[in-house]
Formats: sequence, C-alpha cells, structure tokens
Amino acid sequence: MCPVIATGPRSFRAAFDYRGMTSSIGLESGTHRPYHRPMPARSVYLETFGCQMNELDSELVTGQLRALGYRFVSEPDTADVILYNTCSVREHAEQKVWSRLGIDRLRKLREPHVVVGVLGCMAERDGEDLIRRMPVVDILCGPGELDKLPTLLDNAVRTRDSLLADEPGAIVKESGTGRNSERAEQAEDSRGDSIGSTPLSISSISLPSLLSNASSSSLSPSAYSALSEFLPALQRAAGTSARQVALQGNTSRRSGTLAAAQDTLELLDLSRAVSAHDGADRRGSAYVRITRGCNKFCTYCVVPFTRGAEVHRPPQHIVDECKRLADAGVIEVTLLGQTVNHYRFEQDAAVTLDGIVQPQKGRSYGGGHRADPFRGHGVTTFADLLAQIHDEVPAIRRLRFVTSYPRDFGDDVLQVIRDHPRICRYLHVPAQSGSNSQLKAMNRGYTVEEYLEFLDRARAFLHQPEIGRPLAVAGDIIVGFPGETDEDHEATAQLLEKARYKNCFIFKYSARPGTVAYDKLPDDVPEAVKRRRNNVLLALQQRISAEVGAEYVGTTLDVFIEGLSRHEVKRAAGGTASGGPARRAGMNGSIALTIGGRTLGRRGEGSATDTLHEAPTACAMPPLSEDEAPLADEVRGGSGGRGVQLSARTDGDLIVHFDLPPEQARKAESLVGTIARCRITESRQLSLVGKFTA
Ligand code: SF4
Repeated sequence: MCPVIATGPRSFRAAFDYRGMTSSIGLESGTHRPYHRPMPARSVYLETFGCQMNELDSELVTGQLRALGYRFVSEPDTADVILYNTCSVREHAEQKVWSRLGIDRLRKLREPHVVVGVLGCMAERDGEDLIRRMPVVDILCGPGELDKLPTLLDNAVRTRDSLLADEPGAIVKESGTGRNSERAEQAEDSRGDSIGSTPLSISSISLPSLLSNASSSSLSPSAYSALSEFLPALQRAAGTSARQVALQGNTSRRSGTLAAAQDTLELLDLSRAVSAHDGADRRGSAYVRITRGCNKFCTYCVVPFTRGAEVHRPPQHIVDECKRLADAGVIEVTLLGQTVNHYRFEQDAAVTLDGIVQPQKGRSYGGGHRADPFRGHGVTTFADLLAQIHDEVPAIRRLRFVTSYPRDFGDDVLQVIRDHPRICRYLHVPAQSGSNSQLKAMNRGYTVEEYLEFLDRARAFLHQPEIGRPLAVAGDIIVGFPGETDEDHEATAQLLEKARYKNCFIFKYSARPGTVAYDKLPDDVPEAVKRRRNNVLLALQQRISAEVGAEYVGTTLDVFIEGLSRHEVKRAAGGTASGGPARRAGMNGSIALTIGGRTLGRRGEGSATDTLHEAPTACAMPPLSEDEAPLADEVRGGSGGRGVQLSARTDGDLIVHFDLPPEQARKAESLVGTIARCRITESRQLSLVGKFTA
C-alpha cells in the first residue's frame, strides 16, 4: 500500500483507491470497470508560480504522485511529464508559462511522448482556450480539481503511449475525467476544428509555417534542416493528443453546504504524505490549508472565479494534519487561506460523506465585527482554531497564518494571539491603496480610516517589544489602478507612512482577464506614470523598512533557520561551495518555485526577483526579499576553510542573515529547520544581520 493512503483516514482509502490508483477509462460513463495496472516509472518536472496556496498545492500533488511511483526531477529536459502550477494574478507569471510552453512545443518535436500539463488558475480561467492556443498541452486541471490529477496523468500517459504506437492522425476517443468529463468530451468532439483553426496547429500547416512558428527569430539553413527531420514525429504528435481536462467551470461558485460537501478536493489535503521537509525547500516548516476560495470579489482579482467560494475545512482535519506534521518533525506551521481570518466551521451544519466530515461553505456576514458574530456553541471560529492548534499541538513552536482580510479581523483573534506564546506576532494585511475612492473602485469593502483603525487596534494588543514580542506588519499596494490620480497616489504614500510596514509588496497594476476591472475599468494610467509612482513608493517603503529594522538592532531573538542565504546558494551554484551543506541544505530539487523567492532556476535563468515590488499576488503571497549579503570578512576564514551564511526569520517574519565561522560550518545543515537565538547587530534595507548565540 502506498504511503499516501496509509496516512489518511480509513474511509478515505477507498475513495482514493478509486480515484487515484485506477485507470479511469469509462469511469464517468457509467460503465465503471476500474482496473489496476502497474504504473510505469515516470519522471516529473513541476514548476510552481504564484502564492503560497499554489506552493502547497504543488507539495500535495508531489506527494500524491510520488506515492504512485512518479519520480521528480529538477530539470524539465529530463522529465517525461512537465507540469506547471500556474498563477493568473500577475501578467508576468503568465508570460513565463507561455514561454515555457513554447519551449516544450519544440521539445515535443523530438520527444512526442512527453506529457505537458497546466494546473491552477490559468487552466481554470482559460479552459480549453488554453489548449487551442497551445496544443502542446495535454492536461488542464483547475485548482479545485487537483485531487484528480493522478487519474488525468495516468490517462494522458497511457493515451499518448498507445496512440503513438498507432498510425499518425489517430483519433482520440477517450473521455476526460471528473465532474466535467462532459465538457472534456465536448472539447474532444470539437478537437478537429480547434486544431485545424489554431495557428499552432500541426496537422494542417505547411513545413515553412511550422518552422516560422517554431522560433520568433529566423532560422538558419542548418536549423531548418534539423527541424525538418522532426516533422514526422511532430505530425504523429498532432494526431496523438492525450487531452485530459478537469475544471470546475461554473460549479466553482457553489451555493450551499451540501454542494461544498461534494467537493473532493479535501481528499488531496487528507492524503498528505507528511515529512519534516515536505515542501520544496522548507525543512521543519509546512503550510496547512484551512480555507479555500474567496467571497470578496475585489475587482482586480480573479481568485473568486478560479478558486471558487470560501470553503472551510473541518477543524479536526486541520488539527490532525498539524499533529502528523509535528510527529514528522515540523516545528513551524503556516495556516493558509485567501482570507484566513474568515475561517469558521459550524459543527451543527457539518455534513459527513463516506465517514468523512466535509468542508463547509462559509456563511458570509456584513463584516466590520470585533468578534466572530457566529461564535459560541457548535462553531469553531478562527480564534478558536488558532487556540486549539496551539494547545493541542505544542510541538508546533511557531504558528503563523496568511493572508488576513483587514475588515473582518476581530479582537477575539488578537486576544488569542496575545495569550498564546507560540502564535507568531506577524500580520500580513493588504491595504492595496491609501485612497478611499480607489478602495471603492477595487471593491475592497473598507475605508482607509477603518484600515488604520485596525492597525492601531492590532498594535495595542500585540506590539510588546518590552517583553521581546514586537508586532510586525506587512502590506500590499497596487499602483496605477484605473482612475488613480496624483492625489490618490499621495494618499497611498501617506498610508505607508502611517502603517509602517516591515515590508510591503508594491506592484504595478495590470488588467487581468476574467476580472471585473478587466471588463469594466479602462487601464487608463500610463505605464510611465505607474512606473514613476511605483518607484516613489518603493523608495519610501525602503526607508520605512530600514527604520523598522533598526528598532531590532541590539535585541536578541529566536529565529527559525530556513537554509542557506541566497548569497550562499549562488556561491554553491557557482561551484565555490564549501562542501555538503551548501549544496544540500534547503534545496531538494523536487519543485521549482519561480515566483516567491524560492527558486530553482530553469534553463539558465537566475533566481526570482526578490524586491519589494515583485509581488506575485494581491492576497496570499510569500514574504520575499533577501539582501545580497556577502559573507563577513572574519567568517571567510583563511586558506584552510570558510564559513557559511544562513538565512532565518524572526517570529515577525523579518529576514535575518548570520554567519557561521569555519569551525562551525559543519553544523550548518543540522541547524536548518530549527529555532536558534540570534543577536541582531545590523539592519539593512531588506534584512537584518545577526550573530548566532545558541
Ligand atoms: S484580492 Fe484577496 S480578498 Fe480580494 S478577491 Fe482576491 S483573494 Fe479575495
């Protein structure tokens, strides 16, 4: 039995056996004859774009596929299966995906057996249009259907393998899977049309047009000749689409508790294969989802359409997951949700299916409360959940959460944070603008005054530097949203001064398809103006960040050691590493994270940008940014050895770099994923510098 199944509840096993371990030909047709076949060993490259929610999704998908025999590789060129877990919040992230797919298209000329899948928000938003634009894609899987990925992949691999053995032009008749198989079948029915009408189509184009499509630059005669050799393989690939589609489509806006109960995505979380370094590069630290989706409909954001309505996981599932992670050695848990403080589970309305308590669609309320209006008997509020995890899982030494929606943050939560020492005093509360007219256009649901009142309230409860427990706050700002005037911009600058974020993700607005703003609000702030305003706010925030950081100099803090500093990683990549720790600590190579500061480069790319303005998402995004911090001279050591620079985070999520001298460098790896004492000696723009004390 695979380890994934062994970790889940008993009643879950059957469901997962059914959905994940069987070939599903005919699964949706009513002629269920699932059968087991040995899974061929396949290598998978998975690259993740976007927020922590996507990171977690990728981790869960990785665990699930590993348990089924897939092997993960860190370079796409060596993978049989290439998956992109996508984000549609930022245009830049989307462009990267298109660029990747263009490269994959060329690879398929040589290796038509390769299966390419697009997961996440781009898949959900664009649907089959994405395949029409880029027929190299075999699998589309929305964020609400990821539990079905093993089946989709299994089908795609088998379909492609078998069709490649057939004559070119073979027609694929296998259905998709999941509740949208009908949609997939419709897509299949129209496949001939879509391929025939697509500029990148293969079966209907001439060699010259194929070659001109293959590269934006003109091809040399030798390249042309080389590509010509691949044409037969390409034509075969054209006839062997392994298309598999699982999207929520119009079911993503579910209307009731029972409908949410039909949501099988909970199985993905329940199936989690836990270990102390479950994630891509976070030893001792793990994400745990508590809420999915969003009900807020900010006009610039596609999340409510791609991830659906708020659905809350049963508290016992969450607590059990934390316990299992703690048992495996995890000491830091970050609870995830797009609007994490909206978490509420009404036990009285709980629905059980196949012995599993089901996630629950959130009941919305007017907001602006000082305590969850539904608290009381039979309801687990966000405050209750935090206290419950803290008390029942003491091995979790750091409990944090992102991202908070500022309007609905009650005193009940602040009180729980204050009274429970292992809950981090860190709030990520996006403001997005300091102008009330802009907030209204964004449909944020609060005013600047209400936002600042919340920050004052939070600081009154939680900012206690005198006992070594300061509160650190991070924010998000969108620059150049439609209609933004110089006065609006100035108001945002004033907000930054008042909010005094330890860091702020500032990014220029770009209209995103699928959002209300894209359809209704002209993107009327010129790019040059956006850039200027962006730079002004960045400079302002850098000054504020430096001032906030300076308040920490001279203090001694507990820090969670995450791994090598970026500087050290670069040095290791350059072949000048000091040995084992530099190559191993903090990077296991299983998931390439492109945006979010945790990057494994691809195809010669450098690391992701780490600046305050390269924010991947408006709501749930990782705290980024590390200064380039060369190793201190005294730590370099003499010719006989050198030190190692580590990166850590405070309870308030400030980055701290500290150096281990040569005689201690050996223990660098053993320190990763632990909490250590550090004396802060210096503040830089984006990080602190400390000295390891214990
Ligand atoms: S920005 Fe955040 S709160 Fe607003 S719709 Fe998107 S996910 Fe929801």
